[in-house]
Amino acid sequence: MSSKARPFLIVLVVLVVLIAAAVVVLWPYFESQAPQITLNPAPSHLGRENSLELQVSDQGLGLASVKVALIQQGREKVILQQDFPASRLQSQGQAEFKQKITLEPLKIGLTQGQATLLVEARDRSFNRFLHGNQASLELNLTIDTVPPRLGVLSRNIYLNRGGSALAVYQVSQDSKDHGVMVGSQVFRGHNPWPDKPDYAACYFAYADDLEKDAPIKAWARDQAGNQAQAGLNVHLRWKQYRTDKINLSDNLIQALAPRFMAMAPPEVQGEVAVFMWVNTKLRDLNHEKIAAVCLSSQPRELWQETFIRPLGKPMSGFGDRRIYFYKGEEVSRAVHRGVDLADVANSPINAVAAGKVIFAEMLGIYGNCVILDHGMGVHSLYGHLSTLEVKPGEDVKRNQKLGASGATGLALGDHLHFSVLVGGVFVNPTEWWDPHWIADNLELRYKEAGVKRPQ
Ligand SMILES: [Zn+2]
Repeated sequence: MSSKARPFLIVLVVLVVLIAAAVVVLWPYFESQAPQITLNPAPSHLGRENSLELQVSDQGLGLASVKVALIQQGREKVILQQDFPASRLQSQGQAEFKQKITLEPLKIGLTQGQATLLVEARDRSFNRFLHGNQASLELNLTIDTVPPRLGVLSRNIYLNRGGSALAVYQVSQDSKDHGVMVGSQVFRGHNPWPDKPDYAACYFAYADDLEKDAPIKAWARDQAGNQAQAGLNVHLRWKQYRTDKINLSDNLIQALAPRFMAMAPPEVQGEVAVFMWVNTKLRDLNHEKIAAVCLSSQPRELWQETFIRPLGKPMSGFGDRRIYFYKGEEVSRAVHRGVDLADVANSPINAVAAGKVIFAEMLGIYGNCVILDHGMGVHSLYGHLSTLEVKPGEDVKRNQKLGASGATGLALGDHLHFSVLVGGVFVNPTEWWDPHWIADNLELRYKEAGVKRPQ
């Protein structure tokens, strides 16, 4: 090797070492993991005002910028532009960006019709000549700020505290959901007439524990979230419920509490405590379960004839307020949300109307329990049975046997606990087996709206 070449070689080696070092140092800055964009909800329609949760994250070097824009007919309106200034060589930038976004299409000059929602995010990678990895989310959506049309067809509606009613109304076909609101309680309506798709009916109830004068109105909401409301001409009849004072004896507690020992949480110790837990907490849990089960309902009426009144002597009524005392002290309160009917032990318990079995199993205070769906949000419940002779999914005819009466659950003697629910709310069952009530409050509603009873 000549003496001239040696310095050149040294320079070359140094260069190679420098380049290698640069590659090692800079290599992580060329990561190619693009940011991730999540929109919740990812809308298909936009109404007057829409709230979305935007979340953008980057696994690599962190975020450089996030942009949100609405585009209509080639015009772009930027909703949000967020840059994350950080030195290029800082090893870790912002990994996550969360922001609530409000989209008000009319306010920023957009019009009804199609538009695109665009979310773009770039990270701090050196890729693409320092432009970073880019992720984008494009949603084609419809801007619709016109509320659905809603017209009430029912005239006067009479409703008892704790009772049921039916409203018939017309609603434009862009409605996604509709129904009746009683205070803050929402009841869902259905469109059961194929030849009149804009006609709708909704069963609703005035819960026995609702305050007086809760506002009652029909409502409809379209896919963009636009809401329409219309007043209903409801005449509410207030009713006082009876109050019973019940003295809990040690005998009664000893007879009932052992059935529930295994269900109570470990901190609830002793028969008295278990009984109190059953009568308050378990009762609430059972009612939550029943409300969840009753979300399942056919969008048409499965029954036509007036409900059959189950056989037996009435032992207690709907809405009875019960105050429980133990050794002279008030220990708990409960409302009886059904009627108790006692006949001979092991009497056949039959379906009060045609329907579909949606529940048939053990349910806490109700013991062996059957719930039937009669369609359009109306359900009947049979509790304390000794045997269950139907299974969920089965269609049952009016008067078909469901099981035999018993004393399972929170019951001392053999009797049937019978409840009716409307939209998951317990109602007074006696209305449903009164042919005059059916004629004046259900059949007349259909008649005055010019429609047949839905089948
Ligand atoms: Zn009962």
